[in-house]
Amino acid sequence: MGDLIQPQKTVEILQKYKFHFQKKFGQNFLIDSHVMHKIISAASISENEFILEIGPGIGTMTQFLCEHARFVTAVEIDQNLIPILQETLSGYHNVDIINRDILKVDIRQLANEKNDGKPMKVVANLPYYITTPIIMGLFESHVPLHSVTVMVQKEVADRMKAEPGTKDFGALSLAVQYYAKPEIVAHVPPNCFMPRPKVGSAVICLKCHQMPPVQVRDEKLLFDIIRASFNQRRKTLVNGLSHCATIRLAKEELQHCVEMLELPVSVRGETLTLQQFACLANKIYEYSHFGNRSDI
Ligand code: SAM
Repeated sequence: MGDLIQPQKTVEILQKYKFHFQKKFGQNFLIDSHVMHKIISAASISENEFILEIGPGIGTMTQFLCEHARFVTAVEIDQNLIPILQETLSGYHNVDIINRDILKVDIRQLANEKNDGKPMKVVANLPYYITTPIIMGLFESHVPLHSVTVMVQKEVADRMKAEPGTKDFGALSLAVQYYAKPEIVAHVPPNCFMPRPKVGSAVICLKCHQMPPVQVRDEKLLFDIIRASFNQRRKTLVNGLSHCATIRLAKEELQHCVEMLELPVSVRGETLTLQQFACLANKIYEYSHFGNRSDI
């Protein structure tokens, strides 16, 4: 078992089923056992755990997951892969395959049914075209999660991990870091996949926080502020926020909020830490609800 990772085995099974790769589904199958072991080890799966795999392909990683976990649910959009998965996973009784678009699956319900609502782990070589919606969908829907260990495009991994003031820092860095602690586990060159992607890849492990590292009165407001600050990257923070429809404060009031945090009014969003964004969100919340009261 686990021999699908060998390139000739992958070719064999693809030829047997006359499978054609579909670019639109981001199909780049992993064929490097060294990288596979790194992913499995980073996910640190124990035998009582439930794993959600997104996009199992021909089941290469799924076999490894089945060897380590109590149960694996693998969600695959491409119906041409289902008969292949039925063959490659026939030796395992702790897996089910769902032929659906992951963005349409109710993952909370899945966690309830398969894992009694307890935190689960997500492990995947993701389809790169929907990396952000998948990860943000998992976080924002408050699915009970322990960790998310995934292969993504290298630039996306760098953005998730980026610190304030660096070129990669943005809304994705802040959103991911609000929910989890990111760690890049491996850099993976194109020759580890079949077919080879045009971009470099990285494995990133997001260890989910039990409690967010900052406390805000309104989570949605925090993310509206973050998005508005980076939508217009070259503008000052105040100018960016004054164009955000959900923040109903005048420019002078926004300036006042920024000053109350002891930041210059000309500050740009890209230099603020998550902690500073949280303080700003709380100030804007208070100002919007209670007006300009410095004793709040
Ligand atoms: N896990 C396999 C591997 O490592 O070799 C395949 C990874 S490949 C990068 C991405 C997989 O995600 C493909 O099998 C693709 O068909 C599947 N996929 C693409 N979009 C999907 C979606 N919206 N929902 C579920 N699976 C999807």
